[in-house]
Amino acid sequence: MTKPGVTTRQVHADRRLNHPTDGAVHASTTNSVLFEFEKTQDLVDVFQGKKLGHVYGRSSSGSMAALQNIIADLEGGVASACFATGMAAITSTILSLFKAGDHLIVSQYLFGNTRSFLDTLMDLGVELTFVDVTSIQQVIAAKKPNTRGVFTETIANPVTQVADLRAIGKWCEEEKLVYMVDNTMTPPPSFDAKAMKVSLVLSSLTKYHGGHGHVLGGAVTDMGNFDWTGFHNIKSQYQGADERLWGITQIKKKGLRDLGATLSAQSAHLISVGIETMSLRLERSTKNAMKLATYLESQKKIECVYYPGLSNHPQHFAAREQLGSYGAILSFDLVPGIDPCAFLDELRLVLSATHLGDTRTLALPVASTIFYENGQRERARMGITETMIRMSVGIEDTDDLVADFEQALAKF
Ligand SMILES: *Cc1c(COP(=O)(O)O)cnc(C)c1O
Repeated sequence: MTKPGVTTRQVHADRRLNHPTDGAVHASTTNSVLFEFEKTQDLVDVFQGKKLGHVYGRSSSGSMAALQNIIADLEGGVASACFATGMAAITSTILSLFKAGDHLIVSQYLFGNTRSFLDTLMDLGVELTFVDVTSIQQVIAAKKPNTRGVFTETIANPVTQVADLRAIGKWCEEEKLVYMVDNTMTPPPSFDAKAMKVSLVLSSLTKYHGGHGHVLGGAVTDMGNFDWTGFHNIKSQYQGADERLWGITQIKKKGLRDLGATLSAQSAHLISVGIETMSLRLERSTKNAMKLATYLESQKKIECVYYPGLSNHPQHFAAREQLGSYGAILSFDLVPGIDPCAFLDELRLVLSATHLGDTRTLALPVASTIFYENGQRERARMGITETMIRMSVGIEDTDDLVADFEQALAKF
C-alpha cells in the first residue's frame, strides 16, 4: 500500500502507532508518576539506558511517548520530545545544546516570548546575531568562527515575513550548523522540514495541533539531517550506539528531565485528539484567511494587509515555493484616524484575544499587547507598525467573517 495521505495519517495515528491492546482507539492515559520493576536489575538497566522503559514521570511516560510517536511520524523525523508548552520546547532545546561562548544566528522576526528568552540566553553568555532571514546573504554574513546554529520561524508573526528556508538549510548543511526551525505557523504537512534540511523542528502544540484553545504543549523533532558526531556539545554519556539519537537524548535528559517542563498525560491525550482534525482545520482557516485578506485589501479604510497568499506580499513567491500553505495569520493596518481598539470592539464574531491556531477567529492590536514589552525601536525593526492588528483566522463560514468586517467597517 502506498503511504496514506496526511489527513488519513492524522486520523489513524494514535491507534496505528501506539497499538492500544484492548481495541481502544486512543493510547491510554497514564497517571502514574512512578514505575515498579519486578526485577531490580531491570530498573538499573533502564536507568543506564541499556533497556527501554519509564522510571519517573518527569522524564517519560507512556502517554508522552505516545504523542512523541505521533509528532515524529507526522514531521517525518527520527524522534521527538514533548514539553508542557511551546516555550518549554524552545528554551529546553536551546539550553540543552548550547553554552556560553557559542554563537547563534537568529531571525530578527520572532515570536515575542522567544525574543524575550533570547535576552536571557545572552545574559548567560551565548552570543547572538539577529538577521533578516528573508535573505540568505544576511544569514551568511553573520557567520563567525564560533557559530553553532541558526534559529528561525517559517512564517513570522505578526508581519508574516517568510524566511529563505531552503537556502538557509542548504547552507547550514554545508557549514555543519544546527538548523532550528519553529514551524508553529505551518504544521505538517505545510512544511517539509526533512527536505529543507532542518536539523530540529520546533512547534507549539498549543496552536494548530490542540486547535481548540484548551491545552498547552510543545515539541521538538530531530529530522535526522544533522550529524551529531561532529557537534562538540554532546556529553559523552549521551553518545549511544545510534548516533542519530545523540541530540534528542541530550534534549530529553537536560531539557526534559533536568529542566522539568514535562507534558501531562491528560494534555498529551487532548493534543492527540486535536491532531485528528488538524489538516481539515488548517485548510479551512487558510481558505478563510485568503478570502479575508483579499476582501480587506479592497477596502478604503484599510491601509495595508500582510498575508503571504497575496501576490504583492514581498515573499509571496518564497511562500508558494517553500510552504504547503500560506497559513492563517494575517495582519492589517487601518487608515490613520481609526482607533484599532475601537474597531475591534465593533466586530461581533471575531474575539479580541491573544492566541492563534484556534477554531475561532481571534484579533488583537499587537504594539500595545504582545509586543508591548519590546519597545517601539525593536517593533520597528520587526516591521511592526504601532497600529497593526493581527488576526488568527478560524474555521467559521467564510461569508460570516466577511459580513462581520463589513458591518464593523461601516461604523467608521
Ligand atoms: C505560541 C508560539 C510559541 C510558544 O508556544 P506556547 O505553547 O504558547 O508556549 C512559540 N513559537 C511560536 C511561533 C508561537 O506562535
